[in-house]
Amino acid sequence: MALKDVISWTSIVVAYSKNGDMGSAEEVFARFPMKDMVAWTAMVTGYAQNAMPTKALEAFEQMAVSGMPVDEVSLTGAISACAQLGAVRHAAWVQEIAERNGLGRNVVVGSGLVDMYAKCGLINEACRIFEGMHEKNVYTYSSMIVGLAAHGRANDAIALFKDMVTKADVEPNHVTFIGVLTACSHAGLVKEGRYYFAQMKDKYGILPSADHYTCMVDLLGRAGLVDEALDLVKSMTVEPHGGVWGALLGACRIHGNAKVAKVAAEHLFKLEPEGIGNYVLLSNILASAGEWDEVSKVRKLMRNRRLKKDPAISWFEGRDGLVHQFFAGDNTHPRTRDIQKALFELVEKLRPAGYVPILSSIVYDVSEQEKQRLLMGHSEKLALSFGLLTLGSSCTIRIVKNLRICDDCHLFIQLVSRIEPVEIIVRDNMRFHHFKDGECSCGGFW
Ligand SMILES: [Zn+2]
Ligand SMILES: [Zn+2]
Repeated sequence: MALKDVISWTSIVVAYSKNGDMGSAEEVFARFPMKDMVAWTAMVTGYAQNAMPTKALEAFEQMAVSGMPVDEVSLTGAISACAQLGAVRHAAWVQEIAERNGLGRNVVVGSGLVDMYAKCGLINEACRIFEGMHEKNVYTYSSMIVGLAAHGRANDAIALFKDMVTKADVEPNHVTFIGVLTACSHAGLVKEGRYYFAQMKDKYGILPSADHYTCMVDLLGRAGLVDEALDLVKSMTVEPHGGVWGALLGACRIHGNAKVAKVAAEHLFKLEPEGIGNYVLLSNILASAGEWDEVSKVRKLMRNRRLKKDPAISWFEGRDGLVHQFFAGDNTHPRTRDIQKALFELVEKLRPAGYVPILSSIVYDVSEQEKQRLLMGHSEKLALSFGLLTLGSSCTIRIVKNLRICDDCHLFIQLVSRIEPVEIIVRDNMRFHHFKDGECSCGGFW
């Protein structure tokens, strides 16, 4: 093209980012002769959609700082970035910009803010925004219901669903039912869960997806109905994905059902051959059942497949708004010595409170001493230690983790919340854990 205007430049950026090639998008963007709001928005959205939330926020900040107007689209990108990061202080900043631009109560932006605050762990703030919105659509309601369910507020989620379909007369969609079924599952409401699952099909004509089945398997499985959950999977009209079998395997862990665990794991090993977490879960279940021959078979499989764990990462947002990142066994943080020292002191304080490291959380064939050392390096423990160090007591510590929290870290954090006057909120890849006074909102089921 001889004459490239800003619109054609932008469409190239959009095309690259849709293909997941943000590197090329950046190159094109750098060569833009004139960068307007639309061009910047394309970058913010591209980063957010490609799971590069920090970059999205940086681009959005540059937009805001240069005095460029922001609209619904760029705000939605920034809001989604905050939701991915779970970063509270950034969230407040983005909300302020939305309000300054008169978009705080806009139905698209508002629904995004509800979702963002719920994912950042501030469920009450999400409720406040929800209450303040004049116009609410199915996305607004769904964000709120899913948020309440993820925070273990099952009864509120179900009550809101009833309001939605009766008082507000808003037609629910498939996301709404994910929220409703998750809520039933968390609260152990088997009868209600079955009722809504049927209503979804019969009354609203929504065919259950594999994700809805996952919720139902989780619901039945937690309630101890493991065999019925397996029957449900066998009766599925859509192909079960890893989530469905994963929920079943999780239920087998809670109820110590080695027989069904083997069935679920067999499917998972085919669907997610690299998913080391499944091998770990199965070998723990088999170990609890005393099936040591089977345990060594699973370990051998892991060795043969040369499985490496996804790097575990925890994020912690400091008082200064900086997001600190910790890998497992990380000693690159500038305050790593202080973190280690605080962690060892913490362990000494936890022992009298009943802390005994859960060595089975480590599946590698290493000595007990090595297992203890590995457990102490888990990223959420490092983030927690750093949080206690920098925020002091009587505070709320928020940690976001990319993988499932292990048994040992769950116990550890639970006990910390008993002996220290702190509230600890951990978001793992599945749900929120609110630790306070030695209890967790998940009730030990996760
Ligand atoms: Zn752990
Ligand atoms: Zn928990």
